[in-house]
Amino acid sequence: MSEDIILRLENVKKYFRLHANILKSLLKKYKEIKAVDDISIDLKRGETLALIGESGSGKTTIGKLIMKLINPTSGSIIFENENINDFNKEKTAEYRRNVQMIFQDPYASMNPRFKIKDVLKEPLYIHNIDGDEKTYDDIVINALKDVKINPPEEFMERYPHMISGGQRQRIATARALILNPKLVVADEPVSMIDLSTRAEILYMMKELQTDKNLSYIYITHDLSTARYFADTIAVMYLGSIVEIGDADEIIDNPKHPYTKALIAAVPDASSGRVNIIKELPIKGEIPNASDIPLGCRFHTRCIYAKDECRNYIPKLNNISERHSVSCILTE
Ligand code: SF4
Repeated sequence: MSEDIILRLENVKKYFRLHANILKSLLKKYKEIKAVDDISIDLKRGETLALIGESGSGKTTIGKLIMKLINPTSGSIIFENENINDFNKEKTAEYRRNVQMIFQDPYASMNPRFKIKDVLKEPLYIHNIDGDEKTYDDIVINALKDVKINPPEEFMERYPHMISGGQRQRIATARALILNPKLVVADEPVSMIDLSTRAEILYMMKELQTDKNLSYIYITHDLSTARYFADTIAVMYLGSIVEIGDADEIIDNPKHPYTKALIAAVPDASSGRVNIIKELPIKGEIPNASDIPLGCRFHTRCIYAKDECRNYIPKLNNISERHSVSCILTE
């Protein structure tokens, strides 16, 4: 694997078994939710890969797999040329320093009884970072400066409820970066803050990416922020990638009917209402992941579906150097 690939997922599957009684388990008569179904992706060092899709598409499960919060059913997750599933306790601890997460709800992820300085010091204690209280205070002050919280000496004495939503997300970013990770999984990091602050937070995250050569996995349902923030967009549907490519190419030249539907649902910034692509977007609701349709898994909602789509499973095909689509119409 080349040095510029920091993370590679190879044929990763994550199936969850639905509750079954002992007899059904013995007879292997249980249903499975195929949350992630044979995903292969690369993330280049210093770049951002956005995972886009509705809830139930599997994007958050991929985040958890990368964070090693859950193990894959099969397949490999390779970080800097090593399979994270083979890591022993020490290697796992090192991995957890190198790979951090920013959560959707910064308030829920902070202990309300901790001052901001204690919220930020927590990872330093957990990972036994060398230094006394004075050293830790200095690390916290620098982390707050990095995320443009000023004056840091004043903010570090406050409690989470004493700061705004945007400031809390900056603190959450500071906490994710305080151990100098190489990769950050950001799960809907700006979806809970007001629109005017979202762009500021993403701009700050991009600046930090350049300064610290960070790589991001950006999990979102928001195509407009993904275009701004990501180098590559992977569109997910029911546990599979249906389209992947350069962010601008995916937004300007979408090929998969699902991607087109998602883009059609993005409000035009000028009017707030008119769609970018005017076409009937999508039929019905996303099916249950324990009951994935046969053939193309999108066929029950696709306005272009043909008879053969019910039986034929389209592969992810390259239609140009950095653009792949899984649809019979592009084969
Ligand atoms: Fe639609 Fe058929 Fe393409 Fe699937 S393979 S996205 S059902 S046209």
